[in-house]
Amino acid sequence: MSEQSLEPLPGSLHAQWVRCGKNWCRCSEAGPLHGPYYYHFYREAGKQRKKYVPKGQVQQVRSAIELWGALYPPISSFRASLRDINQLYKTLTRRTDMKDEDPEIEDVNEGLAPYFEAEARRLARGGKSSEE
Ligand SMILES: [Zn+2]
Repeated sequence: MSEQSLEPLPGSLHAQWVRCGKNWCRCSEAGPLHGPYYYHFYREAGKQRKKYVPKGQVQQVRSAIELWGALYPPISSFRASLRDINQLYKTLTRRTDMKDEDPEIEDVNEGLAPYFEAEARRLARGGKSSEE
């Protein structure tokens, strides 16, 4: 029932054990620290934020984060980006190869050369097109 109203949450959940800072407390010596306390780490406006999660909400927050991960899988989207970049790189290098090596482009240039030369001769004679 609460699964249906679950809102996906970005970020991650971390357990932390803390020292309370009271010098008479067991944790100031070798005694066990307090915790675990759960914190939801997430980004807001580009900043890393940390929010305390009460014990009673830990399971729900964990599920919400897993739901987000299922909707926006970070690894596969990263791999997809890599694939796109790789594909783009291949396309770009293939184009460069084509320009350098495509024999048809060479042929076109050679085919035009006589016309350029004729035009150059014509201009050298003062732009007149009369043949002698
Ligand atoms: Zn303490």
